[in-house]
Amino acid sequence: MKKPSILIVDDRPENLLTLEQVLESPDLDVVRAESGHEALEKTLDYEFALILLDVQMPVMDGYETATLLRGNKRTKNIPIIFVTAANKEEAHVFRGYGSGAVDYLFKPLAADVLTSKVKIFLELHNQRQLLEVKTRELDAKVAELEALKYELEESNEKLRQLSSLDGLTDLPNRRFFDETLVREWQRGRRKQTPLTLIIADIDHFKAYNDAYGHVIGDDCLKKVARGLDKSILRDVDIIARYGGEEFAAILPETDQDGGILIAERMLSTIRKLNITHEHSKTADHVTVSLGVATTIPSDSANATRLIQAADRALYTAKASGRNAFKVD
Ligand code: GH3
Ligand code: MG
Ligand code: MG
Repeated sequence: MKKPSILIVDDRPENLLTLEQVLESPDLDVVRAESGHEALEKTLDYEFALILLDVQMPVMDGYETATLLRGNKRTKNIPIIFVTAANKEEAHVFRGYGSGAVDYLFKPLAADVLTSKVKIFLELHNQRQLLEVKTRELDAKVAELEALKYELEESNEKLRQLSSLDGLTDLPNRRFFDETLVREWQRGRRKQTPLTLIIADIDHFKAYNDAYGHVIGDDCLKKVARGLDKSILRDVDIIARYGGEEFAAILPETDQDGGILIAERMLSTIRKLNITHEHSKTADHVTVSLGVATTIPSDSANATRLIQAADRALYTAKASGRNAFKVD
């Protein structure tokens, strides 16, 4: 760290000389000024740890000088010790404090009092500088951490995009659904076992969003997702977020009766969630419509046909009044 500098201000050169002699030290830079104006000028070139300021000076006295120093952002925090030969009356002392003095020394100066006071202020200055360095280091660290946090969020987002989970509901996403359907189709074809697909669509969800806003809309989606997920029990069953407010369940080795059982359970689970929906034309709570389709996969057909069938059934359920399932 730079060695501290101290400004001594007195209109009499012989007083400055005395101060210099007492303060002289290799660890200290003593700068002199013979007037208030010169003192102000010097503060432009130095960052003083302390100013020793003579009170009685012609043109601009110590108090005026101190007031100007206090009024300047750069100098307002520099401690000032007034040096005065004047009377020690309290009013006088308080005048000094009013303009920001931190201490007084009385002439004739006692060298030991002067050096010990100066020492205390220099220590304070030193500590403040250390603190400033630490604060700057801390600020840099905070900025660095914020940049890291941003990077982390970005890579998390990329990871999510690469992964198989839907960010909002935590259910498997459409990508995972498509891959699973192909896999289960092939397995069903090999084993000649039935495969059931259920597509669920929330009823009057646009009206829900319009009435309660997207944040509450998202919340509703999460609850419905959890409800539907609870309705499927076997490990091999999966339920995915198929689209905005559409979900799709793949139920391997499940025939039509099994599919109907799950669809009924889904309807009842969503009913029990009892999510208020004052703008639904179907009920006073959030409901879903379901399309169920079952097939034994074969070479001549493909999985898309099963999706189309479930979609058709869903459309029929909607047309028949919603809050229901239909089988294709
Ligand atoms: P229907 O009963 O015929 O299914 O009517 P609907 O209003 O549910 O269907 P529509 O397809 O007209 O509207 C679907 C709405 O779902 C549109 C959009 O406001 C909402 N939606 C889709 N994805 C999201 C989402 O991720 N978050 C939220 N909050 N809303 C979504
Ligand atoms: Mg829809
Ligand atoms: Mg809908």
